[in-house]
Amino acid sequence: MRYISTRGEAPALGFEDVLLTGLATDGGLYVPESLPHFSLEEIRSWRGLSYSELAFKVMYPFVDDAIPEVDFRQMLEETYDVFAHKAIAPLVQLDVNEWVLELFRGPTLAFKDFALQLLGRLLDYVLEKRGEHAVIMGATSGDTGSAAIEGCRRCEHVDIFILHPHERVSEVQRRQMTTVPGDNIHNIAVKGNFDDCQRMVKASFGDQSFMGGKVRLAAVNSINWARIMAQIVYYFQASLSLGGPDRSMAFSVPTGNFGDIFAGYLAKKMGLPISQLVIATNRNDILHRFMSGNRYEQHQLEHTLSPSMDIMVSSNFERLLFDMHGRDGAAVKLLLENAAKGPVSIEDYRWRHARKLFDSESVDDKTTCETIRQVYDDNEYLLDPHTAIGVRAARTCRRDSSVPMITLGTAHPAKFPDAIAAAGLSVRPELPPHMADLFEREERYTVLENNLTAVQDFMAKHWKYA
Ligand SMILES: *Cc1c(COP(=O)(O)O)cnc(C)c1O
Repeated sequence: MRYISTRGEAPALGFEDVLLTGLATDGGLYVPESLPHFSLEEIRSWRGLSYSELAFKVMYPFVDDAIPEVDFRQMLEETYDVFAHKAIAPLVQLDVNEWVLELFRGPTLAFKDFALQLLGRLLDYVLEKRGEHAVIMGATSGDTGSAAIEGCRRCEHVDIFILHPHERVSEVQRRQMTTVPGDNIHNIAVKGNFDDCQRMVKASFGDQSFMGGKVRLAAVNSINWARIMAQIVYYFQASLSLGGPDRSMAFSVPTGNFGDIFAGYLAKKMGLPISQLVIATNRNDILHRFMSGNRYEQHQLEHTLSPSMDIMVSSNFERLLFDMHGRDGAAVKLLLENAAKGPVSIEDYRWRHARKLFDSESVDDKTTCETIRQVYDDNEYLLDPHTAIGVRAARTCRRDSSVPMITLGTAHPAKFPDAIAAAGLSVRPELPPHMADLFEREERYTVLENNLTAVQDFMAKHWKYA
């Protein structure tokens, strides 16, 4: 499998290089040159497979000669073995033909575990084969950092440095990062905000001279292709559980960077019958404004009860724009250059074509709270604020009640107790048993000044492969 850039100028790469590369050299994102396509008959034959067996069927075409089949199978078994539910991604029914796909049974209680548990293992495998080491650097405002750290805890060839804004992440989120043992894991609390952290990461990728040229700097943010790939699998699994591929499904996806929902779009292109994809956003709703009115325009960032979806631009949306423009990289490049200067629209027929599949809704904090309360009253089931946005958007945008509507449950409610309280519920969402002692575990992190040199010096002193 070859991968090409959405801006059409960077060289095509194989799977291994795409894994180790973040952005393409032309500023674009890598996508497969062509997608595998499965017949209904083949998909039907996957009924009853375990999650990791299904994951192998769906993902191996993307990996192919980069990793032998036996090794990839074993990697997948190990990846999903750490989840706390045998079905890995269980479905919960909310109403007639309405479901939540629980994607929060992994080690850090959010769907990002599906991809980052695998990414850590893939990176280590490829680095081992090449006799190389890598330093991962990332900034987090919450879920990504802990999932990335969990995913790398067993890696032998990776040091991971995660920056978070000091005293500005929730205690659960901080402890999920800082209580993971391992001398390759380094948590840095920066005396600044999330943007400061992200700026330092960007600057470090832009000028890697502080690395001394001996180790590779790697990214684990959501533009990494392997993360998208791993998220395609659960669309197939949910569909197969509810009578697919012999009936089509609708999915509603709480969306920030457009990674998770882009995986659903790919599942459809690979042959899975999906008749509707709902883009569910909070008040940071650039995608909703585009899908409902064909106007792509950045607004100011708002802080909401669903912080993992607080974004101004969605990086992975570029991958959809590439397809919407007939895979014309030059057109995408021009569009995004213009979008950096002000509002843009695309040709009406292209936008209408996308609207055949996609609907969207923006849900504010008040409605999020109402939805949490309503679902709890109706079902005694607690939604986290992100999933609540998905459920509300699903109910607003639903086209056909005979088609199963599946909302992706992106996080466990215990990660966001403040939102549950804001919804006026007196129940405290409990951490699941494997996390129950989180508040007793020993923490390890270093507080640093909001200063790039201080951070880079710290890294150089602590990575193992100087
Ligand atoms: C990351 C995240 C999202 C958004 O996912 P994208 O792939 O960026 O669209 C939604 N909910 C939760 C809980 C998350 O952690």
